[in-house]
Amino acid sequence: MSSLQDTSIQFVKGVGPARKKLFANLGVETIEDLLYFFPRRYEDRRNMTPIAQAVVGEYQAICGTIQKCLSRKSWHTKKHLAEVTVDDGTGRIVCVWFNQPYLDRYFKEGKKVVCYGKVDLYKNRLQITSPDYEVFDTLEDEELNLSRIVPVYPLTRGMTQRYIRKIMQSCLETYQDRLEDELPVAIRNRYRLTNIKSSIRSLHFPETPEEQEAAIERISFEEFYFFQISIILRRLSLTQKPGIPHKISDALCLRYIDAFPFDLTRAQKRVIREIREDMQKPRPMLRLLQGDVGCGKTIVAIFGCLAAYKNGHQSAIMAPTEILARQHFANIERMIADGPLKGMRAVLLVSQYKKSERDKILKELADGQIDLVVGTHALITDDVTFKKLGFTVIDEQHKFGVRQRAILAEKGGHPDVLIMTATPIPRTLCITLYGDLDVSIIDEVPAGRGKVVTRRFGHDESQQVYQLVRSKIKEGRQAYIVYPIIEESETLDLKAAQEMYRNFKRTVFKDFRIELVHGQLKQDQTAVIMQRFKDHQIDILVATTVLEVGVDVANASVMVIEHADRFGLAQLHQLRGRIGRGEHDAVCLLVTDPKTEDGQKRIKAILSTTDGFKIAQHDLDIRGPGKFFGRHQHGLNELKVANPATQLDILEVARKEAVMLTDADPTLKKKSNQSIRRTVARRYPTYLAMVQAG
Ligand code: ADP
Ligand code: MG
Repeated sequence: MSSLQDTSIQFVKGVGPARKKLFANLGVETIEDLLYFFPRRYEDRRNMTPIAQAVVGEYQAICGTIQKCLSRKSWHTKKHLAEVTVDDGTGRIVCVWFNQPYLDRYFKEGKKVVCYGKVDLYKNRLQITSPDYEVFDTLEDEELNLSRIVPVYPLTRGMTQRYIRKIMQSCLETYQDRLEDELPVAIRNRYRLTNIKSSIRSLHFPETPEEQEAAIERISFEEFYFFQISIILRRLSLTQKPGIPHKISDALCLRYIDAFPFDLTRAQKRVIREIREDMQKPRPMLRLLQGDVGCGKTIVAIFGCLAAYKNGHQSAIMAPTEILARQHFANIERMIADGPLKGMRAVLLVSQYKKSERDKILKELADGQIDLVVGTHALITDDVTFKKLGFTVIDEQHKFGVRQRAILAEKGGHPDVLIMTATPIPRTLCITLYGDLDVSIIDEVPAGRGKVVTRRFGHDESQQVYQLVRSKIKEGRQAYIVYPIIEESETLDLKAAQEMYRNFKRTVFKDFRIELVHGQLKQDQTAVIMQRFKDHQIDILVATTVLEVGVDVANASVMVIEHADRFGLAQLHQLRGRIGRGEHDAVCLLVTDPKTEDGQKRIKAILSTTDGFKIAQHDLDIRGPGKFFGRHQHGLNELKVANPATQLDILEVARKEAVMLTDADPTLKKKSNQSIRRTVARRYPTYLAMVQAG
């Protein structure tokens, strides 16, 4: 008998070739896919709200018999209008749809319907506009769809809830007994988890809300468990490769720490120690360095470059943008001139170099004449080779994909790798996604920094905002004015930003030096303006989001963010991190009247704290884990039900079990663990591919 994951859904009664195609749109091709195609919500139809008790302004489901159907063209709007009056014995409600003439086919007087939507009062009668609806033809239909908790699935065009429920029911009847528990029985017993058959059934057709919750817990546990095993296996495979045992003396550390005109923070010293210990080991380091903007990660990372250099090895620093790469490079040149990196030969490698220039650099890298290269994506192309790469830094990790970080590491004989991120990752997600990395955290800002105050203003108060900016500039400070440009309306937004800039120049800021940078300028044009801003030849920099990461000008202590609600929370935090980097107190002025609920939440969050970890947690709560990281991140998409943001407790237990298993049998070679290994390989092929390739 073929397995559920090899059996096409065409074998389910009621699924023909046409429907099979529709299911494919939903990502459902096999029986297993179908059984694991989970509802997006449920509707409790055990006790429907009587129409007489419907609450205006709320989303509600009502159930009744169609009493009257009307179909006509509206007078003034010329739109088609379908109007269905539903009666449930306690009262009546009118459901209307616009421009869907085909609806006339479904609604017939006397049939039972369920409608779900927002209840309004219109011309003194209850009405729902464009509700979700289900019309029932037979008694059997009613049994499946009424007087119970019903699942509501994500749909594709041409499919109805009724249809999927029917197919699901018949699929469960035929195949549910062939579902096999992949979660070991000992674990199921330990945590009193229900078996997979009844869990899957309850997830689709729960008898009670409690039953449905238990099912979700059980399936989440299972997802977390196997995912964590895959991550641990990957980590083990990485750390079991031979790395470079760097020799790092106490004297080298002390001299480095003493080489700066300021004291390193305790957190910086601690992380330098952690990096040192890792680099000395004969296994490759794979460490994530988290720290809020401005906490001084770069100095810590560069210590690794120095240590590699002292061992005769090269290093590479990869930044997500050219501005950042240039800034790192400028820092490094200064550190070479001033002492801490004395003797090192560093180059910048960015994509716009002439071929002859680039060829020269590539040759010197291959020959080992260069000790440290700083660059962008230009570093991971095939023609970049090293004589002996010992240490790599990847800045701003989540702008790069997991693959890219692997490519750079492969350019050497397993160099030590440090990944830096200024977007703090909530601990839950960090375990879920980066359980394969060690983590260092710099949780301390250097002493002597000014504090940052954040305030919100409405658009009608912008003159007040500009006055504040003027007074700060008169005190000798500099300002950023940031304007959002979103991709969908790029040209329009850019026009608006340019217009605002010209307007500033003519009016409020006409006696100041003001410039505009935006994403459509050439990189070197931007670089020139940034440099002039740094040298205080410019007072106000009007910028689109190109500012987002890394820009470091200590005297800039005012930031105005126009239309602040249009930025994501992480972006706002990054932007605000550009100020308060010097000794002066700083102000961040948000100009916004947020309209959407999420926009309001974001503004509230950014006003409430400057702590990056708290902001990240807010961000995660608002957006959910999938969007928090963006699509290219592996892993999160593979969790169908489990949600690390809301199920931390389950995640922790599942992780503990996964650790116990792999501690006892790190390669899952034991006979009793074969089926676990198969499950992991089947569910997380990318991870396992990395293990095998890496
Ligand atoms: P991050 O990369 O974490 O955003 P940077 O490493 O760019 O932070 O540091 C920001 C600025 O603070 C730099 O100008 C750096 O020289 C300075 N800096 C770093 N560590 C300290 C410290 N311990 N005391 C004072 N200034 C510091
Ligand atoms: Mg930095």
